[in-house]
Amino acid sequence: MRLRGRGRLSAFIPFLRGAFLYLSERRASRRLIEDSSVAHRLTRRFIAGRRLEDALDVIRGLAGEGYLASLDYLGENVTALADADAQRIAYCSALDRISRERLPGTISVKVTALGLEISEEACRSNMDTLARLAAASGTRVEMDMESSAYTDRNLAIAHEMQARHGSIRAVIQAYLYRSESDIDLLCRERVPVRLCKGAYREPPAIAWPDKQSVDASFVRLMKTLLDRGEYPALATHDDAIIEQALTHVRARGIASDAFEFEMLYGVRRDLQRRLRDAGCRVRLYVPYGEAWYPYFMRRLAERPANILFLLRNLWRG
Ligand SMILES: Cc1cc2nc3c(=O)[nH]c(=O)nc-3n(C[C@H](O)[C@H](O)[C@H](O)COP(=O)(O)OP(=O)(O)OC[C@H]3O[C@@H](n4cnc5c(N)ncnc54)[C@H](O)[C@@H]3O)c2cc1C
Repeated sequence: MRLRGRGRLSAFIPFLRGAFLYLSERRASRRLIEDSSVAHRLTRRFIAGRRLEDALDVIRGLAGEGYLASLDYLGENVTALADADAQRIAYCSALDRISRERLPGTISVKVTALGLEISEEACRSNMDTLARLAAASGTRVEMDMESSAYTDRNLAIAHEMQARHGSIRAVIQAYLYRSESDIDLLCRERVPVRLCKGAYREPPAIAWPDKQSVDASFVRLMKTLLDRGEYPALATHDDAIIEQALTHVRARGIASDAFEFEMLYGVRRDLQRRLRDAGCRVRLYVPYGEAWYPYFMRRLAERPANILFLLRNLWRG
């Protein structure tokens, strides 16, 4: 197969996208690929590595280039409390190193990875440990938002932990109709928020189904957060929205250290550099860990450009 020219490859992209989503859910292919020797070379643009040391190397490098980071220890919906304990322990080690090395890093945590589906009490206790440690380390726990099945419980835990430890950043998805009132309460209680568009498939009864409405919602909520929020983070790679954020910030005279942009490690590095060079705070979401496979497959399925990138690296050998 010749890998010259984007035109010829783009004919295969719908097929490849479906194939990557299918593969992301296959346990057999996951094991085969996770253990393969070429996997590290192919994934390193988006994933820091398998070990905490790899992730620390990456965030040290990013810090040297003027970026902030948030560490995501990869793991999805754990089905045993021992796995949730392992997640908590891994994040405790990450917080310990962030603190000892004075790295500009937070941690990004999923409630399902801390055991929410097995025991809400265990999940709260795990989150409490991390939020307390983050407070002692002068950093934060960013509570990734998952599907709408978890929104109420996630936000209830976020409010409780913020009230107790003051070290939480909640996450709000602009595609949900409820987000305006959620943001209102979070602003009133001075809980910092990361705003994203939302990555899960949700029904039109609860979420805007079209991109235009989601983008419009993001802009409305973003302005509320910039005007009234506690140190908000705008998590998007959308040039047009970022331009509107910068215009709003200039018009209101909002200081550049009063908010952050957040982007995924390896995604739109040109935009990351541009914002950093313009004096904005840019935090990169850095995933690491053994369970990298579903995260990586979703990034490939999300953007055709990422599939082309992977194929070019395969071709280079
Ligand atoms: C730091 C961070 C944290 C997040 N946390 C959550 C969370 O907790 N819960 C949740 O539901 N979602 C989360 N998301 C995902 C988010 O909801 C979107 O699904 C995702 O960011 C794509 O939306 P976008 O704002 O970049 O806009 P889009 O309209 O999807 O994309 C705008 C442009 O960004 C670029 N782009 C976007 N994604 C990619 C990619 N993978 N590869 C290459 N280019 C890309 C393209 O140029 C595209 O044209 C997070 C995203 C970021 C950046």
